[in-house]
Order: sequence, then structure tokens, then C-alpha cells
Amino acid sequence: MDSLIIIIAAVIGGILLVVALVVFIIFKKNGGTLRNSNHTGGSSLLASSLRNEKQKSEVVISAIADGVILLDKNLNIQLFNPAAQQISGWQKEDALTLVYSSVIQLVNDKDVPYTSDQDPFRKAAETLQPVRDNKATMVTKSNKRVSISIIVSPLLSDKQQLDGLIAVFRDVSEERDEEHRRAEFISTASHEMRTPVAAIEGYLALALNEKVCQIDAKAREYLNKAHSSTQHLGKLFQDLLTSTKAEDGRLSSSPQVVEMGLYLEHLVEDLRIAAQKKGLDVAYQIGASGMSTEDKGNAVAGQKMIRPLYYTFVDPERVREVITNLFDNGVKYSEKGTLTIGITGDDKVVQLRVSDQGMGIPAEDIPHLFQKFYRVDNSATRTIGGTGLGLFICRKIVELYNGKIWVESQIGQGTTFFINVPRLSNDRAQQLLAKEAKQNELSATIGVV
Ligand code: ADP
Repeated sequence: MDSLIIIIAAVIGGILLVVALVVFIIFKKNGGTLRNSNHTGGSSLLASSLRNEKQKSEVVISAIADGVILLDKNLNIQLFNPAAQQISGWQKEDALTLVYSSVIQLVNDKDVPYTSDQDPFRKAAETLQPVRDNKATMVTKSNKRVSISIIVSPLLSDKQQLDGLIAVFRDVSEERDEEHRRAEFISTASHEMRTPVAAIEGYLALALNEKVCQIDAKAREYLNKAHSSTQHLGKLFQDLLTSTKAEDGRLSSSPQVVEMGLYLEHLVEDLRIAAQKKGLDVAYQIGASGMSTEDKGNAVAGQKMIRPLYYTFVDPERVREVITNLFDNGVKYSEKGTLTIGITGDDKVVQLRVSDQGMGIPAEDIPHLFQKFYRVDNSATRTIGGTGLGLFICRKIVELYNGKIWVESQIGQGTTFFINVPRLSNDRAQQLLAKEAKQNELSATIGVV
């Protein structure tokens, strides 16, 4: 028994010795200190934590429901997340390293491919600013159309140079269908309601006509109020109809060559009456010097004044709508002073302006002014009727002709709306005019036959 105990003790002792030996060898291998073993673990910890971070961002990018595409500075695809694959129909393996334009094809709502001026990738790469586009349609690999909203942001180096682009986009087909249905409803409803409103307005006008009806003063006062409210309602329906059409690109437009200087001169004469009723003066200024046409009378007798020709390619009826709206606003929101319509330009643009010396617009409202239904909230706008659709429609019309509209205003001093539209050179205008004349001749001949 004793010898058994001695044997077991010897075996345990041997095992302990071996363990101690192994620990010693490892201890020595690690540089003699146990702390050192932790240091080596530190760098491997860093590597593994970086690996973890990378994995984490990969997990996040893969889990995002939006398509994410990363491009390098040559605009080749470096990252293509699963949502991007699902929306575009492209497999990651096929898309990676290709230039973005062979994978991401964008078209507008009329199915016309984007030009490089419209392409958000190009624009972001050129301007080094984020570019958003909520109206784009993507052509998928199998040639299907998907409505998307996309934002492309540049990635910049320390020297503020382009290092790459990151695009995030989502499928907005459902939202756009819904929007389209809503617009359709508003358009049908306002169209249907315009007819009875026009009838009511007509009958009220008849009732107010002294040659048709004899009514007492009190009744006249009430009918006058009813008449102006009906007119307001009619204008609201008309504006609703125009704005929904403008939104989904159904605004009709027949552009032609228009010499804007002469066109505005005639338009001012039509508009003058509304301003004069309110005791406001009206001026028309033409040319860079802002020379008023009223100065014409001062021209030396016999000396011919050379007036610049401001040719544009626009629908004159649409321009009338815009200028009339801006002018009517000038009348509505001014109590005194002069309303000025002006025109000037350079080689490339014709610039129109409508200014007043009225109440002005607060600076904080200016960025929102061209949005649908936006009205400045003050005591004046609460009493002065309006729909908040006029400036939205103006912007949409100006954009039809690749133009731009903006406003400058000073509270208590007045407001100026500016419009820039592309200018046609005199030669180009003459060519187009000759073509228009030929077409008119042809249609007249066909009409006769
Ligand atoms: P509204 O039918 O209300 O006039 P608009 O879209 O034409 O709608 O104009 C939007 C708002 O912009 C107006 O409600 C008004 O507050 C402001 N506004 C427009 N034009 C002028 C102006 N000439 N002077 C001052 N405020 C203006």
C-alpha cells in the first residue's frame, strides 16, 4: 500500500515537473515576462478589431435597404451592396470594376436618357457637391424601369480633390404611383368643378348687369361679394389644374421665336389698367442701361434709336401667364409706387424682371417662395386672397424653357422677380422664323387643298 502511495506521488510529481517545464519554456519564448505576451496580443487585438470594424460596416452596408454604390476617382464601381443588386438587377461580380455608366442608366419621365448635364454622378464629380435627384428612373439590367430617388456625394481627399463618389438610392415606384394617382384626382376634380363654378360666375355677372337686372343696393353688394369669391374659386381650380399638369410634365407648350422686347411692350399695355386702378404707376425699361420706353419721346428728332432684339424660343401664352402673375402680385402686395417691367440680356440669356415698391418679402420666406401652396404668413396675406400656387406655376413654366426664376426683396422697400431664359442669336432667330414661315405656308396650302 505504502509503495502504491509512493508511486502515485512520484507520477503526480513528474506531471507537475513537466507542466512547470512547459510554462517555463513558454515564459522564456515570450521574452521572459508575462506582460510581453499581452503586448503581442495588443497588435493582434488591433488587427482583429479593424477586421471587426470592416465586418461591421460590411454588415451595415449589406443590411441597408437602400442601394449603395461606391465609385473610385475614375468612376469605376468598387462597392455594390445587395439592395443595389436587387434594384438594378446587376450582380455584384458583374458590376464591380466597371465604369458606373455601363451599369447605372438613368432616364427621365419621358424615357429619354439623361444628358451629362442631368447625370447626378457627373454633376457631383464636377461640382464636388452632393447632388440629389428625386425624379430619376433607372433602367435595370433586364430593361425594366424603376423610379428611384438618388443622392450622389463626392468623397474628397485632404487636398479637396475627388477621391470617389458614393451613391445612395431607393426604389420609389410606389410613392410615385401614389403621387401620380393623387395628381390625377386633383386634376379631374378641379376640371369637373371649374364648369359649375364658371356657370355660377356667369349668372352672377348677369345679375349684376344693370341692363339685364334691376336689383337694390344691398343685393348688389352681396352679389358683388359672391362674384369675387366665385372668381377666386375659379382661379384656385385653374391654378390647381395647371400646377398638377406642371408637376407631371403635361403642361402644354408651343414654343416659337418671340422677340421679347416688343412682346413685353405690348403686354405692359394690357397690364397697365389693373395697376392704375390701384393708383400705381407702370414703367417699361428696355436694354442694359435700363432706358425707359417713356424716354423715347426725348430722342432727338430724326435720330433712329437702335433697340436690341431679344429673341427667345418660348410659348408666348405661357410667358404671358408668368409675367401677368408676377405683375398681379406686385399690384396685390403694393400700396404705392411704380411697377416696373424690364428686359436686358447678354449673348446667352435674356433677363426679364418685374419689380414693385411694395411691402417686400421677409428673407426667411424667400427660399420657400416657389414651393406649392407657400404663402408668407403676415397680416397682409391673411387679408389679401391668394392660392400660393402662382409662383410655383411660374417656376414650372420658366423651367420648361431651361430658364431660371429668383427674387430679391427688401422689407418695406419692394421686390424684384428676375427671369433668365436662353437667348437666340439674331441669325438663329431668322433661320427659325424662316422655317416657321415655310411651315405656315405649307399648312395653309394643305388647308386650301
Ligand atoms: P398667392 O396666390 O398667395 O399670391 P403666389 O405663389 O403668387 O401666391 O405667391 C406666394 C407668396 O409670395 C404670396 O402669398 C406672398 O406672400 C408672396 N409674394 C409674392 N409676390 C410678392 C410681392 N411682389 N410682394 C410681396 N410678397 C409677395
